[in-house]
Amino acid sequence: MSPASLAAELASLDAEGLRRRRRVLETPQRAHVEVDGCEYIAFCSNDYLGLAAHPQLVEAACEGATLHGVGAGASHLILGHMRAHHNLELALGAFVRMPAALLFSSGYMANLGLITALVGRGDAIFADKLNHASLNDAALLSRAEHKRYPHLDLTALERLLRGSSARTKVIVSDAVFSMDGDIAPARELLQLAERYDAWLVLDDAHGFGILGASGRGILEYAGIQSPRIAYMATLGKAAGVYGAFVSGEPELIETLVQRARTYIYTTAAPPLLAHTLTRSLEIMASDPARRAHLFELIAALKRGLRDSGWRLMPSDTAIQPLLVGGAIEALALSKRLAQRGLLVPAIRPPTVPRGTARLRISLSADHGHADVQQLVTALGSL
Ligand SMILES: *Cc1c(COP(=O)(O)O)cnc(C)c1O
Repeated sequence: MSPASLAAELASLDAEGLRRRRRVLETPQRAHVEVDGCEYIAFCSNDYLGLAAHPQLVEAACEGATLHGVGAGASHLILGHMRAHHNLELALGAFVRMPAALLFSSGYMANLGLITALVGRGDAIFADKLNHASLNDAALLSRAEHKRYPHLDLTALERLLRGSSARTKVIVSDAVFSMDGDIAPARELLQLAERYDAWLVLDDAHGFGILGASGRGILEYAGIQSPRIAYMATLGKAAGVYGAFVSGEPELIETLVQRARTYIYTTAAPPLLAHTLTRSLEIMASDPARRAHLFELIAALKRGLRDSGWRLMPSDTAIQPLLVGGAIEALALSKRLAQRGLLVPAIRPPTVPRGTARLRISLSADHGHADVQQLVTALGSL
């Protein structure tokens, strides 16, 4: 592409209402923020438990830096695997009640590393159409056959599995779909994995810390355990910090240590993050009130919008998308809310299919009931 064609392409994004712009956040990530000099109530973050700026975690980060320094200085397999990383892996495995866990620098990297370590040419991936972009990219990179089934369509999935003669098969699904907020039928997916001798990769980026009786994620929520499960979750959402992990049987984890390229060929994350995350898991395990408050807010939002004429998509999680349709209309609604001091991102193609542009309302335990009421009132007046 020439420089002139880049400019033309950007102009056409503008014309279609698809050009993305970054706002500069002047405060920590919280319900009440300051952006570009103005104050807002934000419904934009994945900080579902309100931990991103929690004083105890800020303190843990400082303590972690004092104890371990700020940089790991090497990859995990050289000499960057520090005590803080190791302890966090043990705590993560225990938290999700899996035998072993491996820390990655981000969820994007965890998915690339996991999928490319499990499958290659001659193998097949069976993926929900609405899976996160990182899972799709991982599939492409793996060179395995990439078969996508319509969202949540178990019949179509079974048909694909039955017709496949691939050596290794992997079913891959978001546990909570990131733009829709709905939950994958994990138990049924596991049954299909067992029937067709496949792995089940569950990406629990939005369920970890949220789903299940004690917030341990999709495995607790669905009541499943199996050596076929490769469980992935991120640590920059409900856990409030940064990073990700994969957990499963010790053989799976050891295989990733040997083969996952996004684990091997990169510097270990700063140990102070691992130290902070260990504290974050303790808060998640010992403070159920944060989750209880979040679920009260979810219920209040649904109640508030029930008779408003606006349509929330069916979701029982912190992600509550409001369906608008057109990209330009979604953007306009987002702008009018911003004029009333409410930040709610418009999600447009290509992130979501054409004609399903939406406002992605995400709730956090840091919101108060008055914040949600203010959003309901503003939507009611528009
Ligand atoms: C956010 C997200 C990721 C990527 O995780 P990062 O740690 O932000 O790189 C992967 N999968 C899903 C479903 C996500 O929502």
